[in-house]
Amino acid sequence: MKEFQSLRSIRNLIIDMDGVLYRGKEAIPGAGPFLEFLRRQGIGFVLATNNSTKTPAQYVEKLAGMGVIVQADEILTSAQATASYLSRTAPPGTRLFVVGMDGLWTALREAGFDLVEEAAEYVVVGMDFTVCYDRLARAALQIRAGARFIGTNPDRTFPSEQGIVPGNGALLAFLEAATGIEPIVIGKPEVAMMEQAMVRLGAEPATTAVLGDRLETDVLAGRRAGLFTILVLSGVTDRAMLAGADLQPDWVFEDVGHLHRVWHEVIEPEVATDGRADCTVRSDLSTTH
Ligand SMILES: [Mg+2]
Repeated sequence: MKEFQSLRSIRNLIIDMDGVLYRGKEAIPGAGPFLEFLRRQGIGFVLATNNSTKTPAQYVEKLAGMGVIVQADEILTSAQATASYLSRTAPPGTRLFVVGMDGLWTALREAGFDLVEEAAEYVVVGMDFTVCYDRLARAALQIRAGARFIGTNPDRTFPSEQGIVPGNGALLAFLEAATGIEPIVIGKPEVAMMEQAMVRLGAEPATTAVLGDRLETDVLAGRRAGLFTILVLSGVTDRAMLAGADLQPDWVFEDVGHLHRVWHEVIEPEVATDGRADCTVRSDLSTTH
């Protein structure tokens, strides 16, 4: 674990959303004020999500509904990252067969690809809550016929109100089992998404951190890309999981509210003249080691 003081060196932040800024339909307390703090301090940020189902505009709306105000260009989805990746490897007009929702269709269409039902050069698979056997069969047939197999993100499961349910990684595993072909995957923990966020921010690895709630996606992606890593315990990772993990983040906080308090204290220690903030930091130290 690094000293809290070294948070001073962070100039850009790549922030995961689910489990960090909200859980389900509820904002995590302190999410809005934390982003305002980053803006006031001139710390750049991108909200980077492995979820490919929604467009950035839909995320802006979702967050606004929770009182968290962001701009569409502050959001990077795995659907956008996939479209950017394909734009570098395939010319506009390339034929794609898509399994996915609005977020993915919109990103690929905006990138100038031809979204087709047959004879595709690429099969691009993102999470689809309405997917049926016929669509997956058509994807498998085209992969077998030689189409390149691309997945937006590897998450095998995600938490829902009912419990742990299948995610896009489960769809990719289904198609891999049916074709014997492994997909190229774009989202975290692959570095492609981190690199795109860095380009958007004009960020350098030495002064950039990833902030997320998952060790195997957020923290691993940050580590692979050579960035600092910050874990919050407001999502899927609890202290027992963290204690048993090989991969350890640079810093751990209870949630973004906790991170905000500590970071503020590190940057502007003079505000803590009544001793209260001092106590907060001390108790933080005892709970995060
Ligand atoms: Mg998350």
